[in-house]
Amino acid sequence: MIQDIHPHSFNNKFVVTSGIRENDYVFHFIDNSLLLKQEDDIFLIPIKKDLKRLSDDGIFLFEFNNINCFLVWECVIPENSMLVYNEISFLRNQTQKELDWVTSVAFQLKNWYEQNRFCGRCGSATQLKSDERAIVCPNCHKVLFPSISPAIIVAIRNKDKILMARNAHFKNGFYSLVAGYVDAGETVEDAVRREVKEEVGLEIKNIRYYKSQPWPFSSSMMIGFIADVEDLHQNICIDNVEIVEADWYSRENLPTYPPSRSIAGEMIEKFIAGEL
Ligand SMILES: [Zn+2]
Repeated sequence: MIQDIHPHSFNNKFVVTSGIRENDYVFHFIDNSLLLKQEDDIFLIPIKKDLKRLSDDGIFLFEFNNINCFLVWECVIPENSMLVYNEISFLRNQTQKELDWVTSVAFQLKNWYEQNRFCGRCGSATQLKSDERAIVCPNCHKVLFPSISPAIIVAIRNKDKILMARNAHFKNGFYSLVAGYVDAGETVEDAVRREVKEEVGLEIKNIRYYKSQPWPFSSSMMIGFIADVEDLHQNICIDNVEIVEADWYSRENLPTYPPSRSIAGEMIEKFIAGEL
């Protein structure tokens, strides 16, 4: 999955630092694009000394390969440098999977800081909390932590087949597993039953946990489950809104499915390998 970057290391523990050192990594975004250093076919995150001038002290993000990473809002790029802006989706198709992961998390945090510059309760300008990854309002003292939305994804089994569905919003026409956000006042298990009933009209049983996956692009936490259909002969009944096609598929005739950087892709590959 996207977060599996071994032998590289990622540590999101918040650390109180004394600022950006010369060899620390610096993340600078313009909208959806990130500043990267290109050396032939290799992309690198710039370090402080690659940049001409930094106008702020930066926000500590995380450690990548034991090097502190900071977000900066403004910087000046030296002339004739190898620095270029690339849309973060560009890294999806590169071989440097570790960059795909760390830039995604940096992008998630960048958006969170950017969207909370003012307090949602009283409208005052917010401040960064110095001792943890949090934002605080100096006026009403509201404290904000990174917003993460829990979502379920479920592989439904029917003997040796799996349910695959095509979502109306999928641009490239692939099929995936049933998924959806957990609602207020709902357990994740209830969300699994509700989403399956709403999207494909099936009753399920034997719901068991698989794994979870942070999905930075939508600030979600994907929580994976496996379940069995209650009645092997029950008809699939799609909602025709979110789901436009759904059916049972055996290992031999699966439709196009997501890559294994997502939990959906990994679960489908486990099914193909007979491990799900
Ligand atoms: Zn406030």
